[in-house]
Amino acid sequence: MLKTRSGSGAAAPGPPCGPPWADPEAWAEVNESILRLVARYGPALAPAADAARAVRVRLASLAPQLDALCRRTCLHCPEPCCLAAKIWFDTADLLVLHLNRMTVPAAQPLGDWGAVCRYAGERGCRLPRELRPWICSWYLCPPQAAILRGWPAGMRRSFERTVGEIKQLRKAMEEAFIRVTSGDRKKRTGCRMWRQPAR
Ligand code: SF4
Ligand code: SF4
Repeated sequence: MLKTRSGSGAAAPGPPCGPPWADPEAWAEVNESILRLVARYGPALAPAADAARAVRVRLASLAPQLDALCRRTCLHCPEPCCLAAKIWFDTADLLVLHLNRMTVPAAQPLGDWGAVCRYAGERGCRLPRELRPWICSWYLCPPQAAILRGWPAGMRRSFERTVGEIKQLRKAMEEAFIRVTSGDRKKRTGCRMWRQPAR
């Protein structure tokens, strides 16, 4: 399920003016901007698209383990973290979605920092895992982290290695995208590069 720092008592840092691209116009604009850039630069963005595909494949490989962790913990959770999560789709999340030609969710999870994630449902997240912000998959709450520590060492190392690869691939994807589109992105679009506080 969720991912937040607030459940563990730490502050959830984020842009002070609110989640990026939180209003419908800004959300539409950033997504149209990325789409235009993808169409304009096409083959030059192949390295970024390759990295985005690799992210998707690795996340899919983690999904059974992440879902198993959630089944063991979230069903009985007294304080579901999705209800307090201060998260958003950052630039890398949007690039993964667009470069894989996946369906982009209708809006940021939060319209403002006081809101509850619009995708939180009675039975957990209503978004397929591959469409969620990455932070919603990589962060493990303390009970889940404890279960992870009890896994056989090889299984745990494989999980952690894949998480690390996803982080590196997201960074490489974003850098490749910026390299190709930088001048255009600044001049022609409103696409500022926002990152989650940790990933
Ligand atoms: S068990 Fe952990 S991940 Fe699941 S809802 Fe509770 S705090 Fe969130
Ligand atoms: S997008 Fe889904 S997993 Fe992430 S905080 Fe919202 S309900 Fe939870």
